[in-house]
Amino acid sequence: MTPQRPLDAWVAGRAGLAELDSAVLSAWQLSALRHSVLWARLKSPFYRKRLAGLPQDCPASFADFAQLPLLTSQDLRLQAERMLCVSQNDVARVVTLSTSGTTGAPKRIFLTEEDLDATLDFFRVGMTLLARPGDTVFILLPGRSPDGAADLLGRAVRMMGARPVFAPAKAAPDELLCSIEREEIACVAALPSQIAALLEEPAAMPLGRGVLRSILLSGEPVPEALRSRIQDTWGAEVFAHYGLTETGFGAAVECPAHAGYHLREADLYVEIVDPETGSLLPVGEPGEIVVSTLQRGGMPLLRYRTGDFARLLPGPCACGSPLRRLGLVEGRIERTAFGVRIEQPVKGAAQRERPAFNAQ
Ligand SMILES: [Zn+2]
Repeated sequence: MTPQRPLDAWVAGRAGLAELDSAVLSAWQLSALRHSVLWARLKSPFYRKRLAGLPQDCPASFADFAQLPLLTSQDLRLQAERMLCVSQNDVARVVTLSTSGTTGAPKRIFLTEEDLDATLDFFRVGMTLLARPGDTVFILLPGRSPDGAADLLGRAVRMMGARPVFAPAKAAPDELLCSIEREEIACVAALPSQIAALLEEPAAMPLGRGVLRSILLSGEPVPEALRSRIQDTWGAEVFAHYGLTETGFGAAVECPAHAGYHLREADLYVEIVDPETGSLLPVGEPGEIVVSTLQRGGMPLLRYRTGDFARLLPGPCACGSPLRRLGLVEGRIERTAFGVRIEQPVKGAAQRERPAFNAQ
């Protein structure tokens, strides 16, 4: 756990492990899953019914866990209250997610103070990869209301000794470029589509060479073409982050080796399943990302289908971290009456029905 791998030290600390290696982490995750399943069955009417009849020590293995039913966005629409394991008074933030084109109830996510604090701390540690104390970080991401994603990121930036500057609402791309120049921005945190819009501006060309060092992209799939354009135009290092409102915003982030996103393994257990059959796929094969929460007391998620299409990357990362890596999100899974369709992100921009940072 060298200082170059701050995420390793953080995950070890949150899991209460003195050493972080794959085997130890894996054993800890299995026991955390067992605890989550037990807690959910004990406290939530939804899970009590859904997981009735399981042995007390379930899951005995990860293969055993993969037999549990998958949780769908429909469950979050209709059953969110019944998934709660604490009283409504213990909920710090309720996020309501409306999906365009979908009728009926919106999805609801309940986050407690502890959930939000854990995300805040994950953002703080993650940002040390991109920024240094004293830097100015320009935040374009949505979610500015208290405990929204951008608000948490701003607080995290302050905690690591840098200065957050929030982009004015509805600012035009040329105004944003002026702000980057004027404020001597070292790091920008934005949606890929926001950065793509900035790069369309003629003023983007001479900008920030030498001052703008890094860009955090989140909330949408990151097209490889966009990454190259950023590097060619500004010479800035791109760090992609993967997160959903359902995961408490933060889920995984790139290390300086830029070979996939390292998972936030003390809080999330990730599986990849066949989008059609729901069966577990081996490492390296693309499929649907399924997440389970490991330390969430308020509204645990057990095997939640994200609708995102990606793969877990085999082998160790060049950085030496034992944290598993998720590959770049390759598309969005659309379910129609005729089956499953994978919608690929388009070149230079990103299409996603439901951005991760859509919390108001
Ligand atoms: Zn790495």
